[in-house]
Amino acid sequence: YTNPIKNTDTVRSVNSGGVITLHDVTSVKKLEQIRTEFVSNVTHELKTPLTSIRGFVETLKNGAIEDTAVAAKFLDIIDIEAERLYMLINDILQLSEIEGMRKDDNIMETNLNTIIGEVVLILEAAAQKKGVRLIVEVDQTINLLVNKNRIKQMLINLVDNAIKYNVENGAVYIRAGRSSGKTYISIKDTGIGISEKHHSRIFERFYRVDKGRSRNMGGTGLGLSIVKHIVNLYSGDIRVVSQQGQGTEFLIQLPL
Ligand code: ADP
Repeated sequence: YTNPIKNTDTVRSVNSGGVITLHDVTSVKKLEQIRTEFVSNVTHELKTPLTSIRGFVETLKNGAIEDTAVAAKFLDIIDIEAERLYMLINDILQLSEIEGMRKDDNIMETNLNTIIGEVVLILEAAAQKKGVRLIVEVDQTINLLVNKNRIKQMLINLVDNAIKYNVENGAVYIRAGRSSGKTYISIKDTGIGISEKHHSRIFERFYRVDKGRSRNMGGTGLGLSIVKHIVNLYSGDIRVVSQQGQGTEFLIQLPL
């Protein structure tokens, strides 16, 4: 995890000019607080599955292993928790990598429709399992100057959420178009929705509207935070349109 303080203009102006104002102190302190909070959140998030794994291993060693049905169940739980740990570490590394960047690397002209096709292929099985239809309405001529993997990750996170937080037999609409030099992408679902009071916080790291539900769905709480960082990397904009029980739409605007 890179120290965010290193990246601030505030600190640079302090170093070069030697003048420090009350405002500077406040923002440095705030960044320090965000960093401390993140480290403490990460620690907690990593410890939870580990504690669970250790608990079940201990119970197995203490005799549960003799009952094959119980043992099989415990091993399944250990497997799920280990998978969660793996996903968490992946997301944390991804987030810290993007955070340390000012501009994206490996940029090349890529067709948006092709990326969306690959995203659909990856998530099709998960959608089918829930009876959710993935409906794609995309302008096929849109080419973006981007790191393909980054945009793919952004879309995977959004469509994955749109499936996870959907109702059985719901739908996800993936739309993209272009207007006055800008690319618009919309991921809209028919799911549980997000009440307005959470809108400003859902892009924060580890923020979940319903912690239990997110955990059950295998969420890390970092998906939207990664999305937001990727959008920022391209000087884009993302907003959410949603109400509880009314489905959710994420609208992205990229100046590309
Ligand atoms: P998670 O891993 O928990 O899904 P995210 O960062 O991807 O973490 O999302 C943060 C929270 O925002 C989720 O826990 C969920 O409560 C809410 N959320 C995200 N996408 C949707 C959606 N399409 N519909 C309803 N709620 C959503």
